[in-house]
Amino acid sequence: ATPMSIMTATGRGAQAGVLIKNAEALERFEKIDTLIVDKTGTLTKGKPKLVAVLPQPGKDEEEVLRVAASLERGSEHPLAEAIVNGAEERAISLVEAREFEAVTGKGVKGEVDGHAVSLGNKAMIEDLGLAAGDLVEKANQRRDEGETVMFVAIDGAIAGLVSVADPIKETTPDALKALHTLGLRIIMATGDNERTAKAVAARLGIDEIRADVLPEDKARIIRELQDGGARVAMAGDGVNDAPALAQADVGIAMGTGADVAIESAGITLVKGNLDGIVRARRLAQATMGNIR
Ligand code: ADP
Ligand code: MG
Repeated sequence: ATPMSIMTATGRGAQAGVLIKNAEALERFEKIDTLIVDKTGTLTKGKPKLVAVLPQPGKDEEEVLRVAASLERGSEHPLAEAIVNGAEERAISLVEAREFEAVTGKGVKGEVDGHAVSLGNKAMIEDLGLAAGDLVEKANQRRDEGETVMFVAIDGAIAGLVSVADPIKETTPDALKALHTLGLRIIMATGDNERTAKAVAARLGIDEIRADVLPEDKARIIRELQDGGARVAMAGDGVNDAPALAQADVGIAMGTGADVAIESAGITLVKGNLDGIVRARRLAQATMGNIR
């Protein structure tokens, strides 16, 4: 493409809130055949809300939430915010946690009122040698609704679960339909549970998922696809997504996401909506088509 046609394309993109870093990003984007999308904050709003607290028989619902939220005050994860806000909405008073520790991709642990508390996903409680027992069925029901379930362990026993819901962005379904029509293979990657991931993917007509993915796995998944000959774009918003955005042929950051994600990306969607990808694709095709 001529420098002029590229300037025209990037200018039109910018007007629509699609920031294309340079000519190379535009040229590469035209050749993309596979799009990896992060779930939380990319397909969904990334503002989860607490929707359920289910105590183990004999345990108190409010107490489970109080302990969980007290611990989560130490975390900056969106899931933590949902749990803390949920407790505050119910006017539960929280206490200071001690020995707080975040376990990447799994959850958090620490001490609340002198009790050892862990809070996180299945991998987190398995590390403790615990099983969710009777709560598994309830957990699965919530996951089938697309919710994210976290188990609360107190002094080496599962005390209950908390569940949060993160609504899908209004613009996501139409954008995905358009991207499918444009012929892209779409894969959702998430640190979330497989069951939750499947429920969300089913609603969006996404047929390929990679779930229970640790942050460092996303870049590896992309590398493997590239080794198989795919030209891969990755859309993500989180600090954790930066290595994957850098590994992709074109990284696409949500303007609403972390700064380091934006720095690693060739395209930034200012409004954080996936319809920007459709626009970028059409711009790339129109621009590159010009000179063939
Ligand atoms: P992603 O941003 O891709 O959804 P993360 O790697 O941040 O994934 O988290 C993966 C999983 O680890 C979450 O779905 C949750 O179950 C658990 N987790 C992470 N951080 C926390 C936290 N602060 N509190 C409870 N669970 C957490
Ligand atoms: Mg995310």
